[in-house]
Amino acid sequence: MKYADEFRDRDLAKSIALGIRQEAHPGRTYNLMEFCGGHTHAIFRYGVKDLMPENVRFVHGPGCPVCVLPVRRLDDAVEIAERHGVILCTYGDMMRVPGTKQRSLIRAKADGADIRMVYSTMDALKIARDNPGRQVVFFAIGFETTTPPTAVAIKQARKEGLSNFSVFCNHVLTPSAIGHILASPEVRDLGTVRIDGFLGPSHVSSVIGSEPYEFFAEEFGKPVVIAGFEPLDVMQSTLMLIRQINEGRHHVENEYTRVVTREGNLKAQDLVSKVFELRQSFEWRGLGKVPYSALKIRKDFAEFDAEKRFEVSEKVSREVKSCECPAILRGVKKPTDCKLFGTVCTPDNPMGSCMVSSEGACAAYWTYGRYRDKARSPRREVAA
Ligand code: SF4
Repeated sequence: MKYADEFRDRDLAKSIALGIRQEAHPGRTYNLMEFCGGHTHAIFRYGVKDLMPENVRFVHGPGCPVCVLPVRRLDDAVEIAERHGVILCTYGDMMRVPGTKQRSLIRAKADGADIRMVYSTMDALKIARDNPGRQVVFFAIGFETTTPPTAVAIKQARKEGLSNFSVFCNHVLTPSAIGHILASPEVRDLGTVRIDGFLGPSHVSSVIGSEPYEFFAEEFGKPVVIAGFEPLDVMQSTLMLIRQINEGRHHVENEYTRVVTREGNLKAQDLVSKVFELRQSFEWRGLGKVPYSALKIRKDFAEFDAEKRFEVSEKVSREVKSCECPAILRGVKKPTDCKLFGTVCTPDNPMGSCMVSSEGACAAYWTYGRYRDKARSPRREVAA
């Protein structure tokens, strides 16, 4: 298959759905976590969920980079913009995520902070070139897919001698997060859900390859299938997971062979390792502190590190009260379990990151409509 339409073919979908029904043993349940928000959206957008038998369940994971950023880091970004008077550049989805007391970047912008939405790191560099008298900070978020462009920007800034450019680095790593979901006592204490296998990240794996998941599959005895984002990718990967579970295997298999290799993109990995190094610990929304799960800028590039250039105050950061994003990101709850879903919280008036981001689980439930009409009721204000 070469074109998108072929990965949405109705007859093929029916045939894979039949295969799943035939192979899923009626006496057991298959809880499959889709790590990526892109998979969650494919499952809802194309009705994949409706084609599954009752005992095959999708559990939504923490694979949305906007959703997993803890409120504290967002509050810090607002502070850098407001207190230090910089031009703060970031990707669009971050603009509307509510921080403490529901204060978002877009609200700070409305109050006068110079916060600009960019489409790429190159846009941020251009703003730095065009404003030599101002400090420009790129608020970098994302998994392994968005890390190489940030590394390129830092190297380019050095090459051009752009002393007014820096990066507030919040890049996070997926294999550690998956391991943490299964291993961490904190997550167990907060409530956990049985997971029998993982639909592994697709775009992320195009950079890091499928190999990093092998240790994890072996260590925790859970199968992983690297899955593409089209509906037939998700369905085929589900079938592959069911087969592994039935056979008692726990290997990493690659359904997304048209993009992902075992070793990944070595050039991108080399670039990233030259500019970034591992943080000992980083907080994820919903998962708490996860060891070795994020990157920081290496000492060699310290002059481009906004954390070193701009001081931020100690503060107490808090999510919107009653928002269930943390539990949703751990796979413990569904968006419809949140009492704010569709009442005070909608994409027009988001209370949490899972409703803002185009990859968020709450946005998927809402956008594809199944729960929208049921949930809709007059909007009311909520205390932060
Ligand atoms: S519906 Fe809104 S408030 Fe509830 S968990 Fe999702 S984002 Fe948070």
